[in-house]
Formats: sequence, C-alpha cells, structure tokens
Amino acid sequence: MKHKKLLYRLVLFVIVGAAVLFTNAADTESPKINAMLLTGQMNKYHDWHVTSARIEKLLEDSGRFEVTQVKSPARGEDMSSFKPNWKNYDVVILDYDGNDWSEATQKSFEAYVADGGGFVVHHSSDNAFPNWKAFNQMIGVGGWGGRKKDYGPILRWRDGHQVLDFESDGGAIHPNKHDFQITVRDQTHPITRGMPETWLHPHDEIYSRLRGPVAGTHILATATADSSMRNGTGEHEPMLMTNYFGKGRIFHTTLGHVGMKESEPIRSIQCVGYTVSLQHGAEWAATGNVSIPIPTAFPTADKISIEK
Ligand code: ZN
Repeated sequence: MKHKKLLYRLVLFVIVGAAVLFTNAADTESPKINAMLLTGQMNKYHDWHVTSARIEKLLEDSGRFEVTQVKSPARGEDMSSFKPNWKNYDVVILDYDGNDWSEATQKSFEAYVADGGGFVVHHSSDNAFPNWKAFNQMIGVGGWGGRKKDYGPILRWRDGHQVLDFESDGGAIHPNKHDFQITVRDQTHPITRGMPETWLHPHDEIYSRLRGPVAGTHILATATADSSMRNGTGEHEPMLMTNYFGKGRIFHTTLGHVGMKESEPIRSIQCVGYTVSLQHGAEWAATGNVSIPIPTAFPTADKISIEK
C-alpha cells in the first residue's frame, strides 16, 4: 500500500515536472529578433513616413520582432555624427535613399554585415548609395542613381534559370503601378516555402533592368510586364532576392512602393504577400530560418489579398 502511494507521488511528480519544463520551453523557445528600421531620408518619389510605419507594424504584428526606428538627420543636415549602433541588432531593414553616410559609418556597417548581421533592402532603398562599392555588392543589383552598363550586368530570369545580361544598355525603369503576378522561382527557400507558385500583387512597380555586381544574388521570385506596356521589358525581372556578404545574409525586396500623394492607394504595402515576404525575409536575414507561418488569406494567382 505504501509503495503504491509512493508510485502515485512519483508519477504525479514526473507529470507536473514535464508540464513545467514544457511550459518553460514554449516561453523561451523564440526570443524576439532585434530589428533596426533605418529611415529618415528618401528620394522625392516615395513617402518613407508611410512605409516605415507599415514595416514596423507588420514586423511587430508577427510577434517575432522588436523593432526600433533609427532616423538619420534630415536631408542636407550634417551626417558626420550619424553612427547607428549596429551591434545591438540582429537585422537592419533599410528604408532610406538619401545623403551618403560618413566613411566611418559605411565601414562599420560593412563590418557588421560581414560579421553575420542581417540586412533587408526595401524597394527604393536599392536606389541609394550608387558610389558605395560594398553597398552595391550587398544589394547585388540596384537602380537609378546613374547605375548604367559599367555598374555590372542586368539580372533576369530566362528559360528556367537566372541569367546575367552584360550586353543591354540602359538604367532601371518601371511601368506604371498596376496589379501583377509574382512568380516564385525557388519554392524550397525558407522565405518562399509554402507560397503558391504565382500570386497576384496589387498596385506596385515592377523594377526592371536592375544591375550591379550580382555576385551571390539568388532570385526567389520574378514578375514581368508585357513590352506593349510603357516601360514594360517583356523580361522576367527579379522581385525577391537573397545575397550574402561575408557571413551576413541579405534579403532584397523590390516590392512596396508608396508615393507622395496622400490620395494614392497603398495597396502595395497592404498585400498579404508583401507582408509575408517581408516578415520571412527579415527573419531569414536575422536567423537563417523562418518560423512565421503563411496565413490562409495569402493571395492566389488571380485574387489579391489585402489586410488594412
Ligand atoms: Zn517606387
């Protein structure tokens, strides 16, 4: 009888112990990713106030990120004291196209990424810093800012694989904002795994003829605009890409245009496909893995999905 009682106690102890252990494991399983959203200046075609607020909200809504906005001095102000503390963050999301950073800040950012810091370049931020060599290596390809033939090849998708076009002239262009299909070219990558092969993305710009040193750039998804459209190239242009710089992982999304007119729709950054690719890209850049699930409300090949 005594033995039975002891056995009961032992079993109870093991069950309670396991429950406590399990609960603790669930609590500590995913510490939040510290993300720096670097913003504060943008070219005259984009409203960084709107995009940065949205990026912050979408990352925090995932429950996976703690986001800190770090704002540069305003355009034209002294940049010499702008020295973000990169090392406090797992990933830096760039929503910036403005004055050059000081050489010391550029070098410290290069060291941060080379040492394994994550980096996300968002839409028009790939217009920034045309004369900063390491930045061009990190983003792989960029547009505007005088990026012509001598900056490197145009990166595209042809006949089932990515190709480098060294022959064509011309800098970046894009058709007018419209709804277009994104085609996932690598369905096995953590960022795109589980997405449908094609999904409809609303009211955005198909960045075209992006060029640069390319190096390790890997295309995850493309889009195309028929050459009958103004600025349509008829080519499959990269929309979502990854790259490496030293030990650092880089996610490059060309999605997410928001113009300066208040009346203009911002469906581009309300698209569930935009949200998921941004969340996944930032998590992958920070950790090398993706745990954020794909919602059932993901867009399909012929139906956009908006979340306000
Ligand atoms: Zn734009």
